[in-house]
Formats: sequence, structure tokens, C-alpha cells
Amino acid sequence: MRTSKYLLATTKETPSDAVVISHQLMLKAGLIRKLASGLYTWMPMGLRVLNKVSRIIQQEMDAAGALEVSMPVVQPAELWQESGRWEQMGDELQRLKDRHERDFCLGPTHEEVITDLVRNEISSYKQLPLNLYQIQTKFRDERRPRFGVMRAREFMMKDAYSFHIDQDSLELTYELMYETYSKIFTRLGFNFRAVEADSGSIGGNSSHEFHVLADSGEDEIVFSSKGEYAANIDMASSLDPATKRLSPALDKTLVETPNTSTIEEVCTLLKVQAKQVLKTLIALGESADEDANQRPLVALVLRGDHQLNEVKAAKIAGVHSPLSLANEDQIAALLNCKPGSIGPVDIPESITVIVDRDAAVLADFVCGANQDDHHLTGVNWDRDCKIGKIADLRNVVEGDPCPDGNGTLSLKRGIEVGHIFQLGNKYSQAMGLSVLNQNGKSVIPEMGCYGIGVTRIVAAAIEQCHDEKGIIWPDNIAPFHIALIPLNAHKSEQVSQLADKLYRDLTDAGVEVLYDDRDKKTSPGVKFADMELIGIPHRLVISDRSLEQNKLEYKHRSDEDSQDIPLENALEFLTNKVMS
Ligand code: ATP
Ligand code: MG
Repeated sequence: MRTSKYLLATTKETPSDAVVISHQLMLKAGLIRKLASGLYTWMPMGLRVLNKVSRIIQQEMDAAGALEVSMPVVQPAELWQESGRWEQMGDELQRLKDRHERDFCLGPTHEEVITDLVRNEISSYKQLPLNLYQIQTKFRDERRPRFGVMRAREFMMKDAYSFHIDQDSLELTYELMYETYSKIFTRLGFNFRAVEADSGSIGGNSSHEFHVLADSGEDEIVFSSKGEYAANIDMASSLDPATKRLSPALDKTLVETPNTSTIEEVCTLLKVQAKQVLKTLIALGESADEDANQRPLVALVLRGDHQLNEVKAAKIAGVHSPLSLANEDQIAALLNCKPGSIGPVDIPESITVIVDRDAAVLADFVCGANQDDHHLTGVNWDRDCKIGKIADLRNVVEGDPCPDGNGTLSLKRGIEVGHIFQLGNKYSQAMGLSVLNQNGKSVIPEMGCYGIGVTRIVAAAIEQCHDEKGIIWPDNIAPFHIALIPLNAHKSEQVSQLADKLYRDLTDAGVEVLYDDRDKKTSPGVKFADMELIGIPHRLVISDRSLEQNKLEYKHRSDEDSQDIPLENALEFLTNKVMS
């Protein structure tokens, strides 16, 4: 491709709303343009990368025996009503009506549509197992679209759905998809990890997320220092503390703590460590009553230096799921104090006090006095206040013992690029999908689903591989393999002719060349900077100076310096570089 005929859309300015580096570089390199919040146009350069990512995914899915289909983006509400998700989904589901006032939605995922397809097409165990996939547009009206295509409203997903006569068959396909994902992310050049994930309200069944390791990742993932253990932070349990609770040594004392609304302020004032202070949060409990104001409340109590994990808390019986913290008015009405002064002493009987394992072994601790500007010191469980229930409420922290007993935990940030999930019969049951088994008996198939964020992968690749000059693409997803840059071609017949010839020869050899044939108005410096920003992995410069010695200048995007290569075997050298 000649740049003179291409839409190079590089810009110098860093857009102010782009906070992560991949978003900045995708805009600056001209890969995407924003249409509206969470909606992006893929420019020619960006689309080349996206298509290459899709192709790798297709190849590996096909190799695993999955069959490609393409389902509509617009889906009828009836299917979602059958599964019960029309009500459950909330505002992320973009609903719309057609001219006949019928309800539809833009598909955020396709479990309903695929289950409908399969219930109409499949009737016998002989047709199973079946794994169908598509690479297609999804729409989710995300609460906070951000980081460009990383968390967009419209995005491309590879979604696959498998159907099985029994759990054993589901597990085989699940394993195969796990291996397939590992192959895909290896081919994409990622430094990635598969981690155990929360299987949500379905419970019991297996689920793994695949994360690209990157500091800008939205998710926190946890590894064992020694063994195989890897989980996302919502799944990583903290163990019972090794220490036992000491007997009370101090008397309970009311102290004044004016102008302290945070744990840090209390610690500074009272000269205590955060791990000796309790943090008490009030959350909505569980009840049949739909009205949030009528729900019972629960107190969640943790050590001051620990963070509440909302997913863990919401799984505890008696706690509303998803977790919903009481607001200041609800707290004031019940306890007559601000949220920063709550504590478990003399808390109303109606509130169940759920205490984190580590907070439950404290003695002589500090906590809020349920009275503004006051705390209690020297407080002890049982003597001064009651534990309703002990539970794992907190995020694990660096150095915690590994739940499988092998080593300690360390934490890293990750970008979730894939998710595999054993669904069981949630959808097949709800939507009346059944097949006849070997004995002619009707059975409800087991299902699995397997997603990959195709557009998010492009951003994740940039997060993982860039420098101060721009993107550095791995060869197999680079928009072009080689940037061919002739210097002063307008002055030198020799340079321009050789550039034309090399462009033809390389292209004929199957190498994708971006030939920077822009005229003299574009300086060599600008050409170099553009190609580095776009991240083309290999660069070949043709100049009169090097031609005098029958040489060309080659540089890999991540090399410090360029190297001279002999003109006569340039073609071989370059094809080897690109195809290796
Ligand atoms: P997240 O926790 O990031 O919201 P999710 O659990 O909602 O993800 P899935 O429903 O499992 O995601 O979707 C499969 C894949 O699609 C995810 O692993 C992710 O890579 C991608 N994905 C999900 N939401 C978005 C989005 N808003 N923009 C881009 N990619 C997304
Ligand atoms: Mg989501």
C-alpha cells in the first residue's frame, strides 16, 4: 500500500479524554475515531489489525471443531422474557421498539438466540455435542464507557455456545476451549493468565477468565508464588487467620474524635494502627420485599486496613445481591450518626453483624461509637458486642497465604480478554430445549459459553507493547509488516526506482508493505515518526548514501539502532524476518 493512496490519520495531539495509553495511541495512530460515547469507527489502519485478530480466532475455533454462524444483532424481547433476563438485565440492555410497537433489544450476548436456534434444529443426542460461534457486534449500554474500545458500548465479540447430552461432554469441550484460548492468546503474543472466576448467580459450575497482564487493567488478579493457583480477586478466599483472639486487657472507653471521617484520621488522632481499628459498613439485607426502604439491614465489619469485596459479601445468606450499601439518610434514621462513626457496640438487634474472619480475632480494638465525633477504644467481642456471623468479606492482600496451601499470594492487574463458562442447563431449561437420549427419553442439554473481546484485544496488545514513540505490533497482527521509506526520492531516480521495485517484489512475496511515497513536503523525520507511532514492526530505508555501498538500512521497531543489509539479498533478508 502506498501512503499517497491511503488514509493515514496520524495526529500529534493527545486527546484530553484518553487516559490509558492504548486509547491515546489508537487515536494518535489513526486506528479509530470516536463517534459518540463508547462508539468508535475503525479506520482502515485499525481495521487491518482487527481483521487479523479475528482471523487468528477463527482459525483456532475452526481447528477446535466449532462451527461459525452469524446471528442478528437485533433480538426479539420474547426470547429474553422466556429466559427471565428481560427484567433482570437492567439498563445495560438497550431496548427498542419497531414500527409495530413490538419490543426488541440490541444483543449484549446471544444465549437466548442460540438456544432458540438449537431447540428448533436439534432433536437427538446424535447431533451433539455441538459448538457454534460467531464474531459479531454486541451492544451494552455500559454505565461508564471508557478507555476507548476497551470498555465501549458497541464492540466486537467472539461468542461461542456449546450443547451437550451430559456434564462429561460439557467438561471435554470446556477443556478444549480452555486450550484453544491459550493457543489464541499465545499466537497474539500476549503475556496472559487464565484465572478462576466467579460463576455468578448460577453457582457451582466452573468459569475461567483470561487476562492480559497490564498495569492499566481494570481487574485485580491473584496468583500463588509457588503453585498453580490463579483466581480473580472475587474468587480468592482469605483463610482463617493463624492467630487466636487474645483475652481482653483494656476497658471499653468512649473517646472524642472530632473531624475524623476516615480510618486514617482516626489512626492519626488516637495513635493506633489501622489493623487495630474496625470499619463498619451498613448494607441492605435480603428480603422478599421489593421496596429497598423496607429491607432489613446488615453490618459488615472489617479490619481498618482491609477492603470490602462486594462480590464475596453479596454471596452471604441474608445480604442483598448485588451488594447495595445503605445511604446516609438510612444510616442516620437507624443509628443517628454519620457513616464514619458506626460500630458494632449497642447496634440495634435488627441488624445482623457479619464480621470478617480477621476482624473477628481482634481484641482491645477501636471502633465507631454510633455517635458523631466519638469512637470507643479497648472494645472486645462477646464482652462488649456480639458477632452475628463470621465470614470472608475482604479482598486478599499481597502475602496472604494461598487458599490451596501452596505459597503466598501476589496481586497483579489484568485486562479481561476472554471468559469461558459452564452454564449448565439454565437456558436450555428455561427455554424448553430438549433432545432424545439413547433410550428415547427426553433430556435437557448442558450448555457452555465462551467469549472473547475481539476489539478489546487490539487495545490490550497496545497496552502490553508500546514505547514513548508509539505502538510496537507483534508481526502477526501488525497492520503492515514493513514500512518502506525512500529518502529524497524526488531528487534521486535511483532511490525511487529501487523503492518501486522492492515494493513490487516484497508484495509479490506476500509481505505487507506500507510504502511511504509521500512527496518532498513530508520530511523524512515526519515519515519515521509516523511509522513508529503506527508501530509497523520492520522498517527499510533506501537512500543514495547507503546505495553508494550497495546497502539498505534495516531496523526493527524495538531495536535501538538500524543495521546495514546488502542490497543483493535484501528481499530474502526481509521475507525471512517477516515470515519467521
Ligand atoms: P467485564 O467484567 O469487563 O464487564 P463481562 O463479564 O461483562 O466483562 P462477558 O460478558 O464475559 O464480559 O464478555 C466476554 C468478553 O467481551 C469479555 O471477556 C471482554 O473481553 C469483552 N467485553 C465485555 N464487555 C466489553 C465492553 N464493554 N467493551 C469491549 N469489550 C467488552
Ligand atoms: Mg460487563
